[in-house]
Amino acid sequence: IVRFSGVRKSYDGETLVVRDLNLDIVRGEFLTLLGPSGSGKTTSLMMLAGFEAPTEGTISIGGKDVTALPPYRRGIGVVFQNYALFPHMTIGQNVGYPLRVRGAAQADIDKRVVEALEMVELGAFADRRPAQLSGGQQQRAALARALVFRPELVLLDEPLGALDKQLREQMQYELKRLHEELKVTMVYVTHDQTEALTMSDRIAVFNDGGIQQLARPSDLYENPQNAFVAEFVGENN
Ligand code: ATP
Repeated sequence: IVRFSGVRKSYDGETLVVRDLNLDIVRGEFLTLLGPSGSGKTTSLMMLAGFEAPTEGTISIGGKDVTALPPYRRGIGVVFQNYALFPHMTIGQNVGYPLRVRGAAQADIDKRVVEALEMVELGAFADRRPAQLSGGQQQRAALARALVFRPELVLLDEPLGALDKQLREQMQYELKRLHEELKVTMVYVTHDQTEALTMSDRIAVFNDGGIQQLARPSDLYENPQNAFVAEFVGENN
């Protein structure tokens, strides 16, 4: 569903933070970009979302070159680490926002917002403001907002980073449930090896601006291609 071809990114015109990225993402899979801080995961995700432009190379979605398309024309749902809910809007208005900017009719928005909030078990919270929700609830609201227009592709950048361990595990389970239920393609960024190993169909291990290995969790664990992968994937396990 996604193809990165020869993608490079430099912010300063000098240092490459992403070097020659070639990656095919399969429709329906849960793909994790795993790697240490500064390895280029977020930059890669932001280029796919359309918030950053590649310095070189192209990105296509569903066979169509989207390199020059703005984020809202790419049909992608995005969840950021810090939720990025609008504080002055209710949860219902936040979740309905992507439909409103796409010009949907109010009756349709109302119906889809109820559906999306029920999907993440926040049906009773539509009229609250973000500040009146716990961290886990805010993250679910952000997820509902990313899913409300039924995108085929959802990008999640360290979405559980701010949650405590118990909530994190619960949300991991819920994300997987939604992934199966909605048959949506998910691209997930984390630096947490355990999280990547338990959730992913495939993992792309990033280091120093490039993919070191792309494989299923069991293959990564059993047959790491180099010392970096062996050490990084093996940590905390
Ligand atoms: P993290 O998990 O810490 O977010 P990451 O693997 O996602 O790390 P990136 O955020 O993609 O890594 O960052 C890769 C490199 O690019 C880092 O050295 C970072 O300092 C640099 N960088 C990221 N965003 C910008 C920006 N907007 N302007 C300049 N440099 C940036």
